[in-house]
Amino acid sequence: MREPFKEYQGLLNERSTAAAVIFTLALMWSVGQVTFIGSLFVGAVAGAFLLQLEIKRRMERLENRRSAIREKRKSKSGSSVLLGANALDRLPSPLLLVDGDKKIAFANESARELLGSDIVGNDAFLYLRQSNFVAALDNIISGKYGDFGVIRYTTSKDRSFDVTVAPVLAGKMNDGVRAIVYFYEVTSLLRTERMRADFVANASHELRTPLTSVLGFIETLRGPAVGDMDAHARFLGIMQTEAERMVRLIDDLLSLSRIEMTRYMAPNATADVNKLVMSVINTLKAVAAERGIELKYVQTDGVQDVVADSDQITQVLLNLLTNAAKYADPNTTVTVTAELGRTGKHVILSISDEGPGIAQEHLARLTERFYRVDTARSRKMGGTGLGLAIVKHILLRHNSPLDIKSQLGTGTTFSFKLPIPQKKSQET
Ligand code: ADP
Repeated sequence: MREPFKEYQGLLNERSTAAAVIFTLALMWSVGQVTFIGSLFVGAVAGAFLLQLEIKRRMERLENRRSAIREKRKSKSGSSVLLGANALDRLPSPLLLVDGDKKIAFANESARELLGSDIVGNDAFLYLRQSNFVAALDNIISGKYGDFGVIRYTTSKDRSFDVTVAPVLAGKMNDGVRAIVYFYEVTSLLRTERMRADFVANASHELRTPLTSVLGFIETLRGPAVGDMDAHARFLGIMQTEAERMVRLIDDLLSLSRIEMTRYMAPNATADVNKLVMSVINTLKAVAAERGIELKYVQTDGVQDVVADSDQITQVLLNLLTNAAKYADPNTTVTVTAELGRTGKHVILSISDEGPGIAQEHLARLTERFYRVDTARSRKMGGTGLGLAIVKHILLRHNSPLDIKSQLGTGTTFSFKLPIPQKKSQET
């Protein structure tokens, strides 16, 4: 944009040139010296002056336009000259460049997303107030480099970052930038670490409970109950139940780790759904009958082969049907249904029981390891708290979510889908 003052200056110069020419010609006329050569000379001087003025004005206009473009770039990201600032903009991790006055000179897209769209130009300490960050930035800007330890930044949405502050050496090309502040996201790392610690604590606790009970009975059998044959028989029975629970728990833990190892290997074999369901029903029929529960299979025409790891899907059906038989009300029916999905590309398997149902607030956490709605009831039924976690992990490998629908007092339905093998197109 042209500045009004410069415009006025330009007009003044043109006017004053014209006035000077008229004045000179008038002077020459008044002394009777208006010659052709003289007039030509005055005209040439005035023309050269005007030409110089025009060149100057155009140069000014060009410079104005250049600085406007520079300003525009600068307001977008905050850095005009720093080499490669545009490349930094696309970095997935948040990054700030801070100048000698501790002001943010540049913030890439991720940093603006994290800290706010208008952070450029503001004091860096407005966003990172931790004392170790303040110390690190102060030291780096005053030329004292060193190890400032882990600077952890956690957002209100529970995202965590490890922040590194590194120096930028002063130079012509860095636009006064003195430090780089780099954010490395550690949210999922911390979550995994926490899950691992929780898992070890839970698994140890689950094993410790039966082990303590077994040790207690051994002490009693060797002490007060040494000659009591009735107590021997009773206590040995309990010890066997507890030992079997430990074996089941260890088996489930081993299954989980085996399943996790195959998580990213998509199954490629085909399995007959009807055979899988029938074999699981036959295995569990007798156990379910002990509580008066009937296991029923309802199958839709056309349902047969699916792409699946048959051992793993057998495990899924075993866990879901065992749970249904364990938690359903006595003398009810548990129904397994296999039907074609709406697109015809999947078979949907559902297991429905007529049990107590599960309250909505538990549904989201039900597949977590060791999560139980009623811990005492689960333990009494011989549960390890790992059955649904195993189901979820197997289904993850089969690219299917586990859908749980439940209504208190009515019952629960667990369902998942398995793909039907697609016929290969004919070779031409
Ligand atoms: P568990 O070994 O305790 O059965 P699971 O992971 O198989 O562990 O199940 C987790 C919890 O989910 C169970 O403790 C139980 O509270 C609840 N649950 C699972 N299936 C059913 C069901 N069909 N009806 C009611 N509650 C169920």
